[in-house]
Amino acid sequence: MSLFTDASRYIPGGVNSPVRAFRSVGGEPLFIERASGAHIFAADGRQYIDYVGSWGPMILGHAHPDVIRVVQERAALGLSFGAPTQIETRLAQKVCELMPSIELVRMVSSGTEATMSAIRLARGFTGRSKIVKFEGCYHGHSDSLLVKAGSGALTLGVPTSPGVPPELAAHTITLAYNDIAQVQQTFTDMGREIACVIVEPIAGNMNCVPPVPGFLEALRALCDRHDSVLIFDEVMTGFRVALGGAQQLYGIKPDLTTLGKIIGGGMPVGAFGGKREIMQQIAPLGPVYQAGTLSGNPVAMAAGLATLEAISAPSFHAALAERTNQLIEGLSLAARTANVPFSTNHVCGMFGLFFTDKAPVRYFREVMACNVERFNRFFHAMLDEGVYLAPSAYEAGFVSSAHDANLIESTVKAARAAFSRI
Ligand code: PMP
Repeated sequence: MSLFTDASRYIPGGVNSPVRAFRSVGGEPLFIERASGAHIFAADGRQYIDYVGSWGPMILGHAHPDVIRVVQERAALGLSFGAPTQIETRLAQKVCELMPSIELVRMVSSGTEATMSAIRLARGFTGRSKIVKFEGCYHGHSDSLLVKAGSGALTLGVPTSPGVPPELAAHTITLAYNDIAQVQQTFTDMGREIACVIVEPIAGNMNCVPPVPGFLEALRALCDRHDSVLIFDEVMTGFRVALGGAQQLYGIKPDLTTLGKIIGGGMPVGAFGGKREIMQQIAPLGPVYQAGTLSGNPVAMAAGLATLEAISAPSFHAALAERTNQLIEGLSLAARTANVPFSTNHVCGMFGLFFTDKAPVRYFREVMACNVERFNRFFHAMLDEGVYLAPSAYEAGFVSSAHDANLIESTVKAARAAFSRI
């Protein structure tokens, strides 16, 4: 019996998160035994160069010695107390220093919790119910946000999940990403009802789609004019596209920011934070309730802090960007040589691959028009060549500091073979 068949006897679909199941690309998922640096080692004995990086957290590569050491040290002191620890303060301080728009920050245990809580806070703060999000953006699986969502919800073709009450979904307004005029019109029509706009400042759950010039600026201006809360969901982009996240890269200050992935260095951590005036509404300071038994878990905080300290090294992100450039240039040339219609987006340590003539891809409808069958063949061909890409055409890819120039070159070589076969 395969490991997957065995898992499927006890776990729905054999997985604890849907995209892992390979439903979109076909075949059975790899079971991973261990990972080190840029490599993952599967239970079948094969090793792969990994561009998933646990969907983003592993910006230092897997099992980075500095992170593993502090995790082991902290674990020996006790796993959880449900009471304050100093390491929570240190991580919170680090986050506030790296992202100056964050004056107060609350730790949670996942990106989903972070966005769900930020939405509740925005609603509590403004006394309004409606929220604006964008088609193809994914903000976790809480009810209000699982309306026309991206990521696995796209892959599985169920952008609006059964189980989300229509009465609740009615408060979620879903607009087209990068369509400035549409957001302006929506605010003109119902600005006084809009509690918040939540946006991925670089969309990473419909492949990788950067904002068009003026889009984030328009959101900032509209939220200011209508007293709505602007939430940047930087669960994916935070600490990855620049040390200070997309807000630093584009020079725009959101009111609230949600974080996840890198902030936990591979352990379950999320966070939301922002303006003091808004964050003071959270319990116990204010009436908006939010809590967590394992929130601020000391082992997880230690992993996050060690990760943020390591990526604060001078020119860390410049080096990451250079590696990603090398990868993207190599893949693009390989596709051109093989005459495969192919287009890319990338921002520092994150990238998107599109099987299309359209360049650059900037809109959800353009993402949806890409050749998924060809991506799926490419995915499997790359897997055969020893490269592990995200098992879906709608996910961003991630480069870590462990991907050195030689590994990138090996990846490009694998891609030359893969492109010629698809
Ligand atoms: N927001 C964004 C932008 C994400 O990419 C994700 C997860 N990929 C989430 C929220 C949800 O985070 P989690 O999976 O940790 O709940």
